[in-house]
Amino acid sequence: MHEYLLYINGEFVESGGKKTFDSINPFNQEVVARVALAGIEDTQRAVRAARKAFDEGPWTKMSKEERSALIKAVSDKINERKAELEQLEVEDSGSTIRKAKEDVHLSARAMNYFSKLAAMDTVEPVDGLSKPGFSQNFLVREPIGVVAAIIPWNFPLKMAVWKLGPALAAGNTVVLKPSELTPVTAMELAKIIHEVGFPPGVVNIIPGYGEDAGEELVRNPMVDKVSFTGSTAVGRRVMSLAAITLKKCTLECGGKSANIVLDDADLNLAVDGALYAIFYHQGQCCEAGTRLLLPEKIHDEFLNRMIEKTEKITLGDPNDMTTDMGPLISEKQRERVLVYIKSGIEQGAKVAIGGSVPQTPKLKKGFFVEPTIFTNVGNKMKIAREEIFGPVLSVIKYKTIEEAIGMANDSMYGLGGGVWSRDKEKAMAVAKQLRAGTVWINEWHLISEKAPFGGYKQSGVGREFGVEGLREYTETKHLHIDEVGVREKKFWYDTVVPKN
Ligand code: NAD
Repeated sequence: MHEYLLYINGEFVESGGKKTFDSINPFNQEVVARVALAGIEDTQRAVRAARKAFDEGPWTKMSKEERSALIKAVSDKINERKAELEQLEVEDSGSTIRKAKEDVHLSARAMNYFSKLAAMDTVEPVDGLSKPGFSQNFLVREPIGVVAAIIPWNFPLKMAVWKLGPALAAGNTVVLKPSELTPVTAMELAKIIHEVGFPPGVVNIIPGYGEDAGEELVRNPMVDKVSFTGSTAVGRRVMSLAAITLKKCTLECGGKSANIVLDDADLNLAVDGALYAIFYHQGQCCEAGTRLLLPEKIHDEFLNRMIEKTEKITLGDPNDMTTDMGPLISEKQRERVLVYIKSGIEQGAKVAIGGSVPQTPKLKKGFFVEPTIFTNVGNKMKIAREEIFGPVLSVIKYKTIEEAIGMANDSMYGLGGGVWSRDKEKAMAVAKQLRAGTVWINEWHLISEKAPFGGYKQSGVGREFGVEGLREYTETKHLHIDEVGVREKKFWYDTVVPKN
């Protein structure tokens, strides 16, 4: 069993009340780690450290190149410790080893990219002042200050990197609160950050519960910006608390993404793609393709092929390279998924495959749910409207493409979407009409740290990644430098100031 302390002000410390909690392996329910639990006072301590590190330096006085080098060193260390991090991610989050390998690789790659963003110029000349008078004008992008980053459990290391990378690249200091369900790899990241020599207080990592550590971060007046990833319900709460001190706020929330297959799609590709879109990481992805919209003409054939393939999906030990799907994160999450499956049946949808907890003895201790496909789904049913966050696909039949686009957009969410067709132009025309932050054509799940990611509607506020994402971590200053110099030549000379 591993043990972790809070990382505050460059030190690994116990929580004030010496409180701890256990992180559980969702495959076998064994304790993976005993972790110090941050309460309200620990959170305040972490915020004070981040505030001091921002206000007094040395971090904020370092050159961009120095900051960039530290961020790059984190990327290198993640690469060096790849195998160990993969293993911990599997044990702590129930991720399959195949996914964990991708996640660790992509975390290192993202950190490397953010190190390059850190070295970018932050001063640009601007023209076109409306008032007369000679001057030089600049747009200066500056760090916002102290960033509170709050993350979920589905991609623990990647999420931590996706928050820390841009926040640090923009020159901020950070308090990161990992999910109470998956603190382990974030705490390993704390060790890496410590080892590469970040000044004390620049990064603080404090596992804790949402209602105390989380809310304190959002309420604390010394925090300047909240960067939250999690459910829409908690996102609403975070935004309302952040409003009290008018904090800048980016929210990456839930989704109910529509996956539209056109009748000219390459069926081999689209069937596999639709399965990947929904069942990757047991459906616990915000951008998962949870609503599959099939045209009448190919509906039955498509469905039969999907069922045939779903029968072959291997549920098992996530550490086994042959396992396709592992357990859900917790018993509570499994209960939630089963309640949705029940509601689908009650509202008249048909279980085409799955729908239960697998009975295989070797899966008994894990929080497994069978990959489940519902047919006869109406877009107004609960299973088509609400985020289930489990391996449950709702298949909806459509007659015309206009009807499909209408149903895709008839959702409070707008995170992802997809179109499958052999005709790229036709697919593009559909993609443009989808009200969603990311739309894939003949693809799914491919998110890049270089391209903006985020939600329309109640899927979120703001964007992550790329230069656009970096800007969410900056304030913009207009710097005006006078070039007139002589009092009498000032355009305002004749206005309010007495001449003598
Ligand atoms: P959650 O909303 O329950 O929790 C997310 C984080 O917020 C956790 O760290 C939690 O401790 C914290 N939290 C909970 N209550 C809080 C409060 N009152 N104040 C402050 N913080 C609080 O979400 P989850 O169950 O951990 O993750 C699943 C959800 O995350 C899904 O809805 C999924 O769609 C969403 N998600 C979104 C994205 C995205 O980029 N849009 C990515 C991954 C996950």
